[in-house]
Amino acid sequence: MNRRKALGLLAAATGAAATGAAVGDAASKNTPTTTSAQQPPHDHARPEHVVVIGAGILGASIGYHLAKRGTKVTILEKTRPSSGATGDSFAYLNASTKPVRPYYDLNLAGISGWRRLQLELNGTLPLKWGGAVYWRDEAQAASQLLSGLHDYEGWGYSGYQIDGTELHRLLPDATPGHIEAAVFYDQEGTVDPVGAVNVLLARAKSLGAEIEHPVEVTGIDATTDRVRGLKTTHGSIQADAVIIAAGLGSQSLANLAGVKLPLTQSAGVLVHTTPQTEFLNRVIFAPGNTIKQNPDGRIVSGGGHEGSSLTSTAQEQGEQILKDASRYFPQLKSSRIEHVSVGQRVLPTDGFPIVGLLGGYRNLYVAATHSGVTLAPIIGQYASQEVLDGVLLDPLTPYRPGRFT
Ligand SMILES: Cc1cc2nc3c(=O)[nH]c(=O)nc-3n(C[C@H](O)[C@H](O)[C@H](O)COP(=O)(O)OP(=O)(O)OC[C@H]3O[C@@H](n4cnc5c(N)ncnc54)[C@H](O)[C@@H]3O)c2cc1C
Repeated sequence: MNRRKALGLLAAATGAAATGAAVGDAASKNTPTTTSAQQPPHDHARPEHVVVIGAGILGASIGYHLAKRGTKVTILEKTRPSSGATGDSFAYLNASTKPVRPYYDLNLAGISGWRRLQLELNGTLPLKWGGAVYWRDEAQAASQLLSGLHDYEGWGYSGYQIDGTELHRLLPDATPGHIEAAVFYDQEGTVDPVGAVNVLLARAKSLGAEIEHPVEVTGIDATTDRVRGLKTTHGSIQADAVIIAAGLGSQSLANLAGVKLPLTQSAGVLVHTTPQTEFLNRVIFAPGNTIKQNPDGRIVSGGGHEGSSLTSTAQEQGEQILKDASRYFPQLKSSRIEHVSVGQRVLPTDGFPIVGLLGGYRNLYVAATHSGVTLAPIIGQYASQEVLDGVLLDPLTPYRPGRFT
């Protein structure tokens, strides 16, 4: 993809974010750059005790990867696991909505990471790997869909155009209406994010990690370049290294350390039904609706890409989303709504992940990102390597917190 085109796509995504409309993966500019000077040196000594703040998908993955290395880990969670963006996520695992090459590569590594975790964790993660089916019913949207496919295929991504017969074979229960163009990304998938956090935390715990909630971190005890410990609603705790993985809460925690972390948020509404018999093995991106079925049978659907913004009461909007989705899958007409979620995406202001040491600190690390479900396995692996081994991993170079200073 040429630079002009990438910027055009990103500008469109940024516009969506600015209007509060649903953003897919709104990396808003070209890949950011960080020089090595903007990343402070890590501690040389391997930390014995690492405290992770936040038990969303990033905190759970980082905690698991640290515990796997035999490190003493404490995860502190303000409310309960998955109570932030993770619990309200559509959790589509993809690289096909990431039109900037290094960011696409990172997401592709995230997808591979889920497959690796599934092997490590003996198949206990609630994943579905049926691929993603997109179709469009009018010319302009169809042309964009095919142009994206062309670019991603050029990068070596697995996807191809399908016709109505093939779509019917992939989705025998669908009533798609007019198909102007359709695409199948066959290696993508989805996960039940709450179930995944539970599996990762349970495994971390079995490896010796302590998971404490509700415990809110309220203060950071630091010298000029080192954190010594944290103040919490349950007293103080010492730490050799601290990793902030607190979603939108990461901003105020960084502020406590005297560092600005430019995050914004945008709402995404999703309707969740009660469990029903399995009929959908793939993630669906139909005109105006996204639909998936979790391994436990619950249908999750949104009005736009990964969930639309809130335009009426959540309940009314949820009912409308489900009604719209039933155009494509008539069995949804009789589905019962279990709840409607209004999630808040964690959006770094330039749209790209923020991962690395914070400010001038040698042992205070942050991981905050959109697409955090896709990225959780690889960020968990990379963050644990950087913090434990004192190394700087090249794939994270564009995403250092220092780019904002
Ligand atoms: C509607 C919607 C759709 C999405 N769709 C997708 C998708 O399809 N694919 C995808 O990959 N991503 C998607 N995302 C993005 C993804 O869900 C997030 O990037 C990811 O969940 C962020 O995880 P996290 O662990 O960083 O943050 P969170 O899940 O927000 O977890 C942070 C945790 O930190 C805790 N915390 C905060 N402050 C403190 C404190 N001071 N002390 C202790 N604990 C604290 C919070 O209580 C919370 O539990 C979507 C998000 C939304 C909202």
